[in-house]
Amino acid sequence: MLVRIWGSRGSTPVSSQNYMRYGGSSSCYEIISDAGTRVIVDAGTGIRSLGASLLKSLPVEVHLVFTHYHWDHILGFPFFVPSFIPGNKIHIYGQRKGELSAKDILDKHLMSPPNFPVPLSIMGASLSFTDLDIRGEVDFGNGFTMSYIPMNHPNGVIGMRFNDNGKIFVLMTDIEHISDEDPDPALVELVRGCDMAAYDCQYTPDEYPMRVSFGHSTWRAAGNLMIQGEAKNLLMIHHDPDHDDEFIDQMVIDANAEFEDDGVIFSAAYEGQEIEI
Ligand SMILES: [Zn+2]
Ligand SMILES: [Zn+2]
Repeated sequence: MLVRIWGSRGSTPVSSQNYMRYGGSSSCYEIISDAGTRVIVDAGTGIRSLGASLLKSLPVEVHLVFTHYHWDHILGFPFFVPSFIPGNKIHIYGQRKGELSAKDILDKHLMSPPNFPVPLSIMGASLSFTDLDIRGEVDFGNGFTMSYIPMNHPNGVIGMRFNDNGKIFVLMTDIEHISDEDPDPALVELVRGCDMAAYDCQYTPDEYPMRVSFGHSTWRAAGNLMIQGEAKNLLMIHHDPDHDDEFIDQMVIDANAEFEDDGVIFSAAYEGQEIEI
């Protein structure tokens, strides 16, 4: 299984010379199974470059899963060029929000005047939509599955566990922990024994008290979750727009120092990163 990071900035995309190493594009992750099935998680602004990369190998078939519909996770969707090209197949998955399906949210909210002039109906690829339940599993075939559960975040979000014939990658973006000492047992099971978990580490433990209920977490909550779930490799994601490269470097140092004796290894996701799992 190959994981590519196309955008790991949270809340809003950013751009400046101080953000060159970790990148400024918002949430977008690509997971490719060993058999070649391609899943994209979220359509933040990072999906624009991902779409450009796919133009070399048309036609493409992709599974696009939305964790939720906050702007930083959908804003790139109208710029995902493969969606406009006949012959491509885009399978879209997301939870309903009240009366609105994922299709309604993209069609009536994101790609609708006065917010955007081009309607969803212009997209020439074959688009299919699947409503996700509160929790469940999607079987992509060839031993590649995604199980998902609800997590604590304003308006809701799902956390997902990808299993490619026994290799496990867990993705938890936009999660606020309830307690940084005693992790939610459901999250412990989600990360249990995984090869890598990507987790929302937007705030330092010092910043968090001023940002309670914003919907995000800390590396300390992540570390304790990993200990409980007997997992080792923690990838910090959803970087705060106010955290420049130097700041994120320091967060990685601090997290590793605190959890050194517990065997949890922290690194911070950067745009363009490829991880073989
Ligand atoms: Zn977000
Ligand atoms: Zn969010």
